[in-house]
Amino acid sequence: MTSTPLPVIGFIGLGNMGSGMARNLRAAGFDLVITDIRRESGDALVAGGARWADTAAEVATASDVVITMLPTPRHVESVLQGPDGLLAGARPGLTWVDMSTSVPDVADRVRAEHPALTVIDAPVSGMSVGAANGMLQIFVGGEAADVERLRPVFEAMGDPDRIIHVGGHGSGYAVKLMINQLWFSHLVATAEVLAIGVRAGVDLDVLRRSLIASPANSTFVERDVLSVLDHGDYDEGFAIALACKDLGLSIDLARSVGVPAELSGLVEQIYRRARAQYGDRAGEMTPVKLYEDLIGQPLRLAGAER
Ligand code: NAD
Repeated sequence: MTSTPLPVIGFIGLGNMGSGMARNLRAAGFDLVITDIRRESGDALVAGGARWADTAAEVATASDVVITMLPTPRHVESVLQGPDGLLAGARPGLTWVDMSTSVPDVADRVRAEHPALTVIDAPVSGMSVGAANGMLQIFVGGEAADVERLRPVFEAMGDPDRIIHVGGHGSGYAVKLMINQLWFSHLVATAEVLAIGVRAGVDLDVLRRSLIASPANSTFVERDVLSVLDHGDYDEGFAIALACKDLGLSIDLARSVGVPAELSGLVEQIYRRARAQYGDRAGEMTPVKLYEDLIGQPLRLAGAER
């Protein structure tokens, strides 16, 4: 019996997320062609059997499916265009999957101008740790048949139970932006509540346990905030500069569909203040530090690392 050969996967953008995702594709047996503007980001993957290409065009020529995992829509655009760009090397039938947190504009244009290509948006959640251990949540926008065809590729990087076909083209981007918007809002609200409660004299552990026991509980209070409260870890695996980018894109989306985003606007400003204060590379949870600085003490549970 013959089996269908696995598609050759091109991967562009080997940063905090892309490096782990590409490693998992290789581990699942896919032939991999990679590139990044930082040559050293591919060293470990090449040692593991991936092929390095110097340009996005070369990646596209050598691949059946090209995945991009890049910081912003501007980076995605620059990888696509020009004589060395993905589009210059793309053969008819190529599938381009953008897994970056982005907006549909660039992909919409590519679909309109290059009908022989299949374009899918498939942004992810799950942090760099999820990328490293192959347990990402993946939100896919596109035609159902394409999503099914790509399922083995997604399953190499994500949790099979949380690879969700969320709708037509662009809906993966929209879902991902809304997830981040809500998570960042949880973070700011939680930091504010913890700072006020501690200043009011309540023990931090008691306050958190009370919140968990109440209707105010959330997975953020129960789980995610612990990286700060236990280890003072603000998650540098996701830079605050990128979090600000996501908040800006989410507000752009709200504007484009005509829904006021008053709370989101405030959360974005608080994030931008933290970015200005602690730098672009500070972790996505650094807004908690703003509140710690305001009350003059770190929010740490008893026995936590300082
Ligand atoms: P990163 O900055 O760590 O990595 C981006 C990579 O893209 C870098 O290696 C960079 O050198 C490369 N790059 C930039 N321009 C390029 C170009 N023109 N050609 C080739 N390579 C180029 O970012 P990340 O944290 O891996 O995030 C990537 C995307 O995933 C972003 O859209 C982000 O919002 C999203 N995301 C990140 C996380 C996280 O926890 N880090 C979680 C979910 C989604």
